[in-house]
Amino acid sequence: MDLLPLLRATFGFPGFRENQEPVCRSVAEGRDVLLVMPTGAGKSLCYQLPAVARQGTALVVSPLIALMDDQAAKLAAAGLRVARIHSGLSRDDARQACRAYLDGSIQFLFIAPERLRVPGFPEMLARRKPSLIAIDEAHCISGWGHDFRPDYRTLGDYLPLLRPAPVIALTATATPTVQQDIVAQLGMIDPALYIHGFRRDNLAVEVVEMPKPQRAEFVAAFLDAPATRPAIVYAPSRNEANDLALRLAAKLHAAAYHAGLDAATRERVQRHFQDGALDIVVATIAFGMGIDKANVRTIVHTALPGSVEAYYQEIGRAGRDTLPSRAILLHSFADRRIHESFFERDYPPVENLDKVARALTAEFQDPDSLGAKLLIDPDTIARAFEKLAAQGAAQFDMEGRVRATSATGWRAGYKAQLEHRRAQLNAMIHFSETPQCRMSALVRHFGDRAGASRPCGHCDFCSPQTAVAQKYRGPTSAEERDLQALLAILKMTPSTSAGRLFDASSVADRRSFDHLLDGLARAGLVTLSSESWVNPLGREVTYRRVNLTEEGRHLGIADPLCVLLPEESDATAARRRPRADRTQPAEAPPAYTGSQAELEQRLREWRKAEATQAGKPAFFVFSDAILRALVHAAPQTIPQLLTIRGIGPNKADRYGATICALCRGEAAPGA
Ligand code: ADP
Ligand code: MG
Repeated sequence: MDLLPLLRATFGFPGFRENQEPVCRSVAEGRDVLLVMPTGAGKSLCYQLPAVARQGTALVVSPLIALMDDQAAKLAAAGLRVARIHSGLSRDDARQACRAYLDGSIQFLFIAPERLRVPGFPEMLARRKPSLIAIDEAHCISGWGHDFRPDYRTLGDYLPLLRPAPVIALTATATPTVQQDIVAQLGMIDPALYIHGFRRDNLAVEVVEMPKPQRAEFVAAFLDAPATRPAIVYAPSRNEANDLALRLAAKLHAAAYHAGLDAATRERVQRHFQDGALDIVVATIAFGMGIDKANVRTIVHTALPGSVEAYYQEIGRAGRDTLPSRAILLHSFADRRIHESFFERDYPPVENLDKVARALTAEFQDPDSLGAKLLIDPDTIARAFEKLAAQGAAQFDMEGRVRATSATGWRAGYKAQLEHRRAQLNAMIHFSETPQCRMSALVRHFGDRAGASRPCGHCDFCSPQTAVAQKYRGPTSAEERDLQALLAILKMTPSTSAGRLFDASSVADRRSFDHLLDGLARAGLVTLSSESWVNPLGREVTYRRVNLTEEGRHLGIADPLCVLLPEESDATAARRRPRADRTQPAEAPPAYTGSQAELEQRLREWRKAEATQAGKPAFFVFSDAILRALVHAAPQTIPQLLTIRGIGPNKADRYGATICALCRGEAAPGA
């Protein structure tokens, strides 16, 4: 089947964009497909063209009326026959759409997911099977993301009725975990996975550790050069966006943009940026969705974003014209702490939510007065209801009143969301702290393994000499000696934790040591990875592991070291702590003693048996991190067990007796 002539005739495009053709071919042939490509890459065509090729009617599920209307309008403009069914249309329109579907006079039927819950509707669809089923924005299926839609979760229940049509799921933001979730929830059959296009070859990504107080000055100085503009600066809060915009506006055409501004101001800022009257927008995350500006040269983040997905989406707004562009991320340890406190605020412990959930009844009630009854302030209670609603355990009416639903099992969903959010944050921290090719790391994050194998050549890791936010220099002769000494230690122990390497070295302070280590990594002589273990107190401790590379191993003592080190500002240098007063960080896990190793073995075996019985993977019982914590703490009683992070009442109820028995050295009860 040659799809190219059909593409030209139907859509008037001269050719396929990268990666579109094989995807279209698979779908046209009737295969289930999961397609992950960035926003704007042209995913819609990948269901639209096959739909035309397969004839019949394609069913398209879309989470937003605006998206549906936009796609339907584009298809209609191309002369295709389209109908929509969503809450923004009249009953008559819906009825007419159903008729058109049943008599086969339309090529595309767009529906909102909740429509499938309407009794009789799925059966109506099944009377005349669709030729293809497209699920747009498929990540909404995942109970973790902020876009979660409970109605997406149940989509999979209706699909068997509509088969044998191929199912194509489309999304821009799925990490490998979410991808698996989509495939499982939709019951996709042997799907072809296409994960493409996350590599941006014209984007130089820089990640720089910079103390907070220096960032505004850096941004002002950097954006002073005309070639760096137009630019979008992402600030972490409305206040910071206002302050920085004000400062920049003294010399440049800059303005702030955030949700705290009125709609008219926001619209004006967006329009002026679009048409070039404004050169710089300092925005919170609210900016950029509707922006279609091809020549953005720079994206600056003045603080650590909350997830790699959001970060990637934001830097993706630079260089759509394919000309060289730059993304600069400024961060420091302080950013991590800020995120931690946000996290605690936004994700209350499940026990607190429980309390709030119990106060709900089948009648709609005013959230503030419920809060007053429970002695919880309005913001906190609002966040709690939001969380419950996201899990389907609460429902709002038009006046913002709230009531309980009959949904059970929201706790597991919420915990999964919590863990997912935590993992997102950790991934972002890991990205910012791990010296490696930035573009490869991003591409790998989205599961595109093929795309991740090639270094980009112009990020701060691949090309430190062209970095702008951080200048680099060659080592001094003292540093050169330190570097050689580190390599000598590593040749004896080629894989070790950074802490142990530091202890074994004679480098004066940890900060200089970290710089030397990063320099060795940039030069390809070592690789650094961040690893974690759970200490006996149940706290997760992350540490850096250093591995000598082949190149490092073969480097002779007389060979020149091509290591570049960051030039430090005086302020940064002043923060060095000498060796004597540093607190020893808890680093790599201590090795197990003989009896601990034995316990680990027994716990593992039991976990495996338990998981097999439940038909679930082993981590379903508990993760390796928890396993290690159990081995170290060896809890003998349920209260002791409950002090271990990751073991809640549910797990304790289910497995507690057995775990404690195993830790006491007894056989598992009932085994
Ligand atoms: P996504 O869903 O991946 O974010 P869209 O499907 O909305 O992206 O496509 C983005 C834009 O690219 C649309 O305006 C679409 O018409 C255009 N487009 C898609 N495929 C092609 C193509 N082969 N040639 C030219 N333009 C295309
Ligand atoms: Mg789309």
